[in-house]
Amino acid sequence: ENCIFCKIIKKEISAEIVYEDDEILAFLDIKPVHPGHTLVIPKEHHKMMGETPDNLISSIFVKCKKIMKAIKKATEADYVAVSVIGVEVPHLHIHLIPRYYRDGMANLWPTKKYKNNEAKGVAEKIKSFLN
Ligand code: ZN
Repeated sequence: ENCIFCKIIKKEISAEIVYEDDEILAFLDIKPVHPGHTLVIPKEHHKMMGETPDNLISSIFVKCKKIMKAIKKATEADYVAVSVIGVEVPHLHIHLIPRYYRDGMANLWPTKKYKNNEAKGVAEKIKSFLN
């Protein structure tokens, strides 16, 4: 295994850990959007959210809620953004990002506009896979 997050879990690579239990580890992102930007990862190696067992996903997000409240207080942020992107490191990680209404970052990513009836088609396609 050459997973950087698994190495952080094994303490082979150091990190500023803010929370740890049997199931998860939460530590500061080394390239924070704002100070306090935290990554929450399961100790079990799962590449993506879609591959992670339901009970673990549930538990991780309940713990994220607790951690985000602490981040908000500690950083005096207006809110904490939650983001699961999943391309940088192939080990499920949830970003908890302290945000400020006036931080000049309305969007974390560039956005597009739907053409004519495109949105309906996209929604229908997603719905077809949820049946
Ligand atoms: Zn890993």
